[in-house]
Amino acid sequence: MRYVRAKDSQDAVSLMAAAMDPMLLAGGTDLLVKMKLGRAAPDLVVDLKQIAGMRDISPEAGGFRIGAAVTGAEMGESDALMAAWPGVVDAVELIGSTQVQGRATMVGNLCNGSPAADSVPALLTAEAMVRITGANGERDMPVAELLKGPGETTLQKSDIVTSIWLPARPERAGDAYLRFIPRTEMDIAVAGAAVSLSLDESGTVLAARVALGAVAPTAILVPEAAKALIGSRLEAPALEACAAACSAASSPIDDRRGTAEFRIKVVGVLAARAAKIAYNRAGGSL
Ligand SMILES: Cc1cc2nc3c(=O)[nH]c(=O)nc-3n(C[C@H](O)[C@H](O)[C@H](O)COP(=O)(O)OP(=O)(O)OC[C@H]3O[C@@H](n4cnc5c(N)ncnc54)[C@H](O)[C@@H]3O)c2cc1C
Repeated sequence: MRYVRAKDSQDAVSLMAAAMDPMLLAGGTDLLVKMKLGRAAPDLVVDLKQIAGMRDISPEAGGFRIGAAVTGAEMGESDALMAAWPGVVDAVELIGSTQVQGRATMVGNLCNGSPAADSVPALLTAEAMVRITGANGERDMPVAELLKGPGETTLQKSDIVTSIWLPARPERAGDAYLRFIPRTEMDIAVAGAAVSLSLDESGTVLAARVALGAVAPTAILVPEAAKALIGSRLEAPALEACAAACSAASSPIDDRRGTAEFRIKVVGVLAARAAKIAYNRAGGSL
């Protein structure tokens, strides 16, 4: 196996195109574990961390462009990012431990293709856009279009995600992400739920997006759950309808960390709780 530090994105694309079974390396907290377990055996590992701009968080069009090699710890240190998208930052900061946070990236979390990846529901509700450089140049796509199935994405062999863009946060808006794990940290979500919403001056929900993790082959948006919140001030019937829509949209597996029945129930509870946090962050009061 060869290890190469790419000089720029185009160099990385060319290296990937020329190899038989290449893999990209950001923080390596998924990739190296897989290689040690024999679940991945790339002939070439292309390290992206030295490419200019990959480690930057930059303001863009009222939002933020986050380079593919920005770590969770670096995102948590950005006060501006935390103020605009606390739910996204919360989700990224749930990944692993302090040590893992110093390496793990949001882009690696997304590109690993895990249905339980913590950052993905929050990225879906934020309407985040992925910037990709590939054999045919650069393109932008919504995060939802990158998701395919467990361990899979729609990325092509020589595609490289170079950054993620989080849009401008509207007035009176907030987001939140919650997950359930059987212990307090260092575990993979049994179920996760993200909510992003905005309010009018009276505190009524004007717009909402709800997404779930670990209850389907990929993270999913649940438009019916969002509809249940819109027009409400998160009164009990709206929260109950949101939770019910989330449970109805879930098709989880049974595994040793949680039964399907438990996941279906708990994901609705998480969505309702996340909605309340997002509502308070948007300036509403419950
Ligand atoms: C102890 C431990 C605890 C963990 N806890 C959690 C947790 O709580 N929640 C959670 O969601 N995950 C968790 N993880 C998994 C992992 O840490 C995260 O998924 C992390 O965000 C991966 O980021 P990375 O930069 O390390 O990715 P890498 O390991 O570098 O890459 C992951 C995958 O994405 C691909 N990739 C990387 N960068 C790009 C790019 N720019 N373009 C295209 N493809 C790319 C790689 O080829 C690889 O297939 C944990 C892992 C460990 C070891």
